[in-house]
Amino acid sequence: MSFADLHLHTKFSDGTYTPEELVAQAQFHKLAAIALTDHDTVEGCARAAAACADAGIEFIPGSELTSEHDGVEVHILAYFVDMTNASFLAEVAKFQAVRQNRIREMCAKLNDLGIGLQADEVFQLASCHSPGRPHVARALVAGKHCRSLDVAFDRFLKKGRPAFVPKFKMSAPRDIELIHQAGGLAVMAHPALNETDAIIPAIVEAGLDGIEVFHTKHGPGANKRYMDLAKKFNLLVTGGSDCHGMSKGRPLIGTVKLDYSYVEKMKERRAAK
Ligand code: AMP
Ligand code: FE
Ligand code: FE
Ligand code: ZN
Repeated sequence: MSFADLHLHTKFSDGTYTPEELVAQAQFHKLAAIALTDHDTVEGCARAAAACADAGIEFIPGSELTSEHDGVEVHILAYFVDMTNASFLAEVAKFQAVRQNRIREMCAKLNDLGIGLQADEVFQLASCHSPGRPHVARALVAGKHCRSLDVAFDRFLKKGRPAFVPKFKMSAPRDIELIHQAGGLAVMAHPALNETDAIIPAIVEAGLDGIEVFHTKHGPGANKRYMDLAKKFNLLVTGGSDCHGMSKGRPLIGTVKLDYSYVEKMKERRAAK
């Protein structure tokens, strides 16, 4: 049996591993294939591809886009996108600018609360184009403003907390279109984590190719529910650990193992397009 992990993050977004460190972990866990799905970027993919080639691991370039539909947040995974596609790169660059502005707004709110954290400190710590709330949380811990990442989220950064800033999101159908024009497959990430059930039919209608049935935070009930939905809507089945390295406690790579046969199905679907 061989296995894949199709949901992984590196330092190019809010993970803590370099692409090379991630691939070393994939090798340790004897994975046959991995996909890199950093938030709103494909910058880590070239290095991950090179490290995978050395390690004899199949590499799938990817990204995770934050979309919304009918006011519901939905994360769309892009797989097999052409990493050099100009309109895809231009669009994700816009999402990155939105993320950077959001960091500035969060810091301004923190400053109003008497917390002296500057956006530049967050940018320096994040040292990537696609920073997010986990970087603000790390900066709050590093600056001794909070005891832990959880405290930072609970006190300031979670929705409803005083430094929370909502993120502009593209509509899911537009993100799906963007992925398709870059030659990729669009897959709904961790459906059980967002309240996506009511919008699944509309997103399928918009061209969704697959659904992430297996995910760290999906229990057996969710696995069965989304496997049934995948059959009903003729969607590809994917899965991954959503490993962010050390940023959420222990590294999750190796905890969700997708049977490699599902990767073959993705490649068949893509070839038939
Ligand atoms: P953003 O994309 O900037 O809104 O940040 C979302 C990221 O923050 C996701 O990777 C979440 O898993 C992560 N996150 C949310 N809540 C927490 C928490 N309590 N501790 C650590 N990370 C979190
Ligand atoms: Fe993340
Ligand atoms: Fe996600
Ligand atoms: Zn993710």
